[in-house]
Parts: sequence; structure tokens; C-alpha cells
Amino acid sequence: MSRNDTRLPSRAPMPETGASRALGSPMQPSVVYTTSDPDSLDAIYEGQASGYSYAREGHPNADRLASMIDGLEGGQGGVMQGSGMAAVTATLMGLLQAGDHIVASDQLYGRSLRMITQDLQRFGITHTLVDPTDIDAVTNACTSATKLILVEVVSNPTIRVADMPGIMALAKERGITLAVDNTFTTPLGYPAYQLGADVVIHSVTKLMAGHSDATLGYTLARDPDHRKAIYDFSTTTGLTASPFDCWLAERGLYTFELRLARAQSNAAALADALGAHPKVEHVLYPGRDDHPDKALADQVLTAGFGNMVSFRIHGGRAEATKLTRALDDIAFAPTLGDVSTTLSHPASSSHRGLTEGARLALGITEGFFRVSVGVEPEDALIASFETGLAQL
Ligand SMILES: *Cc1c(COP(=O)(O)O)cnc(C)c1O
Repeated sequence: MSRNDTRLPSRAPMPETGASRALGSPMQPSVVYTTSDPDSLDAIYEGQASGYSYAREGHPNADRLASMIDGLEGGQGGVMQGSGMAAVTATLMGLLQAGDHIVASDQLYGRSLRMITQDLQRFGITHTLVDPTDIDAVTNACTSATKLILVEVVSNPTIRVADMPGIMALAKERGITLAVDNTFTTPLGYPAYQLGADVVIHSVTKLMAGHSDATLGYTLARDPDHRKAIYDFSTTTGLTASPFDCWLAERGLYTFELRLARAQSNAAALADALGAHPKVEHVLYPGRDDHPDKALADQVLTAGFGNMVSFRIHGGRAEATKLTRALDDIAFAPTLGDVSTTLSHPASSSHRGLTEGARLALGITEGFFRVSVGVEPEDALIASFETGLAQL
């Protein structure tokens, strides 16, 4: 082969697939998109033509995934972010400014609490944390400076149920933006957007993607100005979702409804088995009559009580360690929403930053565990826990 026959690699479109097309979605990792001339690039930026320019600003895998989640929430124009925390950050930083006040649940996801109490504070945004099961407390916390209320429908790891009907009505009456982090409940458990939330946030990392291999967030805003503010903040600060993660999450989402249905029925059965077990001091599951928010749960969680179960055993760290080791086929891992059942220990993970007194006020002892129930066969799952508890 002479030197003249050499063709250096050059950019060219992928082959067309002709009369057939791929059933699986392609993954498009390209950072940049070419156009024929400045006018056509202009047309894309001005929204007169569809198309992409630079992946930080958007790409096909993010749009495909966002439109699937839009369908579940019943809205349109959702924006993907690179993590659930990126979605929380884009919402708070995109919509608030110095001098604003935010009312938030005192049992939000730990990093959300940190963002509100430490980071927003640095930018002159003040906050009041309240018990979201107590509508009077939420009402009293709102001032004329309150611009946004942020709640999770079911709290972590105490599985308390927020007074969503009361909070929705309050936000509407006062003209305050209501942002709901719907990660625990998902749109199938609580259709936050259809019920009136102004902004819905998801950590897609959890149940929706479902396989613990993609880190992603999603935000859906009703007001087009809010949507633009969240999108612009995400793009400017680089909170962009990766095409590969979006591609993985899309695949996970096809089985989401099946996985949730199975995980939820497993959770109800596991909660009852734990509730009846002599080694278990207390179990928390919103579907049970002994749940402190049973009446609210029946009103709010009409499509099922979710896949999260918490329970407490007698004793301290030594007993907790013993149980964790005895449950050798249940992964000990501080996450939720995986296809498999995972066990977490809030005192040593999500709530380690609190003082012991603050943990105890929430009921989080050293013997307190949270279970994210997966899709295993129910009998095998319950047998695993019974075998583990028998070793205490
Ligand atoms: C996990 C989680 C987040 C953060 O999501 P990441 O994808 O881990 O950044 C936010 N809110 C809730 C309720 C969560 O469970």
C-alpha cells in the first residue's frame, strides 16, 4: 500500500439502517453537533429548527429519557441533570435569589438539607425547617419572603408521610412555588405534577433507573420561566446528564412499573413479617395500621405504600453489626431503589452527621435499619430476614 492510498480517519455520518431500524435506542455520546452554516446554527439556538449543538446544553439520550419521565408525571419539558442532587441544586439555585426565604421539610435527603442550611445561606437565602406532617407548622413557617416550599412525600429513613393535600392548598393560596422531591414515591405512587406541584424533582438514580448503575436527576417545572431558569442554571453550571447514564436509565425505565409493583408487594409482606417478629422492636411501613401517619398515608399514597420499610431491633451497634453480617445475602449499602433488596444503617451513614440526641429525636437508634425492598421472590426474601434475625 503506497502512502498515497492512505486515508486518514475523518468524520462521516453513521451508515443508514435502510429499510430496517434498530429497536434498541442508540447511545449518542457526541459532545458536539455539526451544522452546514451559521444560519442553521442560529436557527437551532433560536428554537426555529430542532437540533443539538453541544452536549452540555442537551443531547438525544437526555431528551429521550426526559420525555419518558414526562409521560409518567403527566407533563412536558422535563430537564435531565447529572444527579438527583444536581436536580435539587438547579431548582433551588435556579429559582431563588438573595433575600428569599424557603420553607423545607426537616427530614429531607441529607444533602438537600445541607444545601439549604449551608450553601443557600451563604448566598443570602434564608430558611425555616418544619415537620411536613404538621400543616400548622408549615403554615406558620411561611412569611411574606417565602418563595418556595420543598418537601418529600415520604421521609427518609423515618417513612413519615407529609400532609400533601394541606401543603398543596397552602402553596396555592399563598402563591408560593411548591417543589416536590418525588424520588421515594415516584409518579406511580404519587402523581405530584398532576396533583398540582409546581416543580417535581427526581433522583432517577434510584427506583426509576433501578439497577444502581446510573446517576441522574430530573426536574419538571409547570411555569415556562421556571423551566428556563432551571435549564439555564443546569447548563451554565454544568449539571449535565451523561448520555451513557441516560441510555442505561432508559433501559431501566421500561421495567419500572413491573419492578415497583413487585417491590411494593414484597415490602408490605416483609413489613408484616418483621412486625410479627419477636426480635423486632418496631416496624415502620405506611400501609400498616400501626404507622403514625396511617390516615394521611391512606389519603396520599392511593396507588400503594412504596418499597421502603424501616425497623428497629433492641440493642446498640454490636447487635446492629451482628444482624448486618447475618443478613449475608442482603447487600448492606446506603442507597435505595435497586432491583435487589438493600439494607442501610442511618446512624452510621445518612444521619452520621447529626448529634446522637438529634438522631434519637427522630427515633434513629443504633438498632434502626432501613430496607429498600427489591424484586426477589417474596418467600426467599422473608426467609433471609428470618434467618438473619434468628442469629441475634
Ligand atoms: C438519593 C436522593 C437524592 C439525591 O440523588 P443522587 O442521584 O444520589 O444525587 C435526592 N433526594 C432523595 C429523596 C434521594 O433519595
